[in-house]
Amino acid sequence: MSERTPCIGGNWKMNTRSADAAALANSVVEMTDRISNVDVVLFPPSIYLQEVASIASGSSVAIGAQDASEHPDGAWTGQISVGMVHDVGCSHLLVGHSERRHGLGESDQLLNSKLRAGLDAGLQVMLCIGETLPQREADKTAAVVVEQVKSDLLGVPREALSGLTIAYEPVWAIGSGLTASPEDAQEVHALVRQTVASLYDVESAHAVRILYGGSVKPDNAADLFAQEDIDGGLIGGASLDPGQFQAIVEAAGQSCRQC
Ligand code: PEP
Repeated sequence: MSERTPCIGGNWKMNTRSADAAALANSVVEMTDRISNVDVVLFPPSIYLQEVASIASGSSVAIGAQDASEHPDGAWTGQISVGMVHDVGCSHLLVGHSERRHGLGESDQLLNSKLRAGLDAGLQVMLCIGETLPQREADKTAAVVVEQVKSDLLGVPREALSGLTIAYEPVWAIGSGLTASPEDAQEVHALVRQTVASLYDVESAHAVRILYGGSVKPDNAADLFAQEDIDGGLIGGASLDPGQFQAIVEAAGQSCRQC
């Protein structure tokens, strides 16, 4: 159970068509009218950002891009800039999702540039970190996440931390139906917070929300969110199902000590 306002992100990945995206966004907006103690952020495919942002406009639902270029506008065919993300009504940016780190080979150096570009543009950045299965089996989870946090936050000033959320997502748990146990996840979250404290200070680290991601479903959400350092979740598959997503948002609301 956390003292920070919980946050639930819905990562739609490369799913939906325009009509589905609109229907899903409308159902989330409607649902959040009844739930006020959880911050909800949707990450639709970039081609639907403007449409979904206009549906969410005036509601408490925030919208973010799943990725953006580290470069400002210019000759980067196929890319979208942080300025464009901002321009179409988005407030958030996802950086370092495992499908980009491992599927597309994005390095910590690149992710650090994207993260800084996002924060500089005034976006709230959700930084994803997490170990692969071989790394976990080799007992390297702690070393991997500490290194990711340190490398990805390089050069980020303390004042910018208010724009940062971290999502710990063990790569082996994403889309697999496998989930870290609440106790294992808590241990990593505490380590991530400790690492942020060692880079900045305890107070700043205490304020940073650290979400868990990796096959979060209605039946495991409450136990995960009950942990001291788990401040909500980044949800993939279940965010495409309005009923499941609502149940997860409700579980996050119930986990909040002071909401
Ligand atoms: C994700 O895409 O960030 C994710 C956690 O996916 P899933 O919930 O499907 O495991």
